[in-house]
Amino acid sequence: MADDNPFPTSPVMPEMFDGDKVIQFSCHKGIACFNACCKNIDISLTPYDILRLKRRLGITSTEFLELFTLPYEIEKDGIAGVKLRPVEGGSACQFMTDEGCSVYEDRPTACRYYPVALLSMRRQDEYVDRNAYALVKEEHCLGHLEPRSISVDDYRKEQGLTDYDELARGWRQLILKKKSSGPSIGKPSKRSLQLFFMSCYDIDRFRDFVTSASFNLLYDIAEDERAKWQTDDVALMQFAFRFLRQVLFGEEEGIKMREAAAEARRRQVQDNRLRLELEAAEKLARQEDDMAED
Ligand code: SF4
Ligand code: SF4
Repeated sequence: MADDNPFPTSPVMPEMFDGDKVIQFSCHKGIACFNACCKNIDISLTPYDILRLKRRLGITSTEFLELFTLPYEIEKDGIAGVKLRPVEGGSACQFMTDEGCSVYEDRPTACRYYPVALLSMRRQDEYVDRNAYALVKEEHCLGHLEPRSISVDDYRKEQGLTDYDELARGWRQLILKKKSSGPSIGKPSKRSLQLFFMSCYDIDRFRDFVTSASFNLLYDIAEDERAKWQTDDVALMQFAFRFLRQVLFGEEEGIKMREAAAEARRRQVQDNRLRLELEAAEKLARQEDDMAED
């Protein structure tokens, strides 16, 4: 099983549960620990978190990544993720103010979930991911002492997580696919890692890529879909997930290659196979010559 724990350094309670679990928790302005959780952050971002925040700040995804994030490896030699970058020389969130979160309406998924941890899971024999949850209890957080009971499902609704989770689903599935494909697929190429990073996190650069003349030479995309990408970040992000499933995992997503490009790709695959066969035959012949000389 693979998990995706958004609070890796926190003491996650070992108990895992479903959405109908009732927890005791409330967080509100005026609570004695107000802002304590934003003073020492470890917040992983989803692609949709980045869309919301860069739109909120009126900057491009490229600028947002540079100013507000740090890359990290979701798994060794595997795909990259991004985390919120704390203030220079400290551990507090750059969006924290005395009045609270300055981007509250667009705060990231992990901030919305806290103190619940979302664990995306997929058993090797399952093709659909499912969610389980755990409760994070940290000493500084007094919200657990507040007299309010709420189910995790209702807490998710209250925190606006229904859309956030739905729009991160394609990305989580890509990560689970990569994790469950394991070492048999080997270390991914630098190019495929770069493609994953740009497509998932740098949506404005991805837009330039898929609306370029060279992309248009390779792929046959309907005019109305291409036009939508210019203004609709969410539609573009969802195309990015389909594109990665097709390009990195060979899944049929209906993104049509132009015939000439497909033919060139087939020839390239054949040439590579032929080259490998020739190299193997030459190696074998050399070994036989060596043995004959001995
Ligand atoms: S984004 Fe807002 S809620 Fe999240 S850590 Fe920063 S200040 Fe806190
Ligand atoms: S109750 Fe917990 S989540 Fe709310 S401000 Fe305090 S530490 Fe943060």
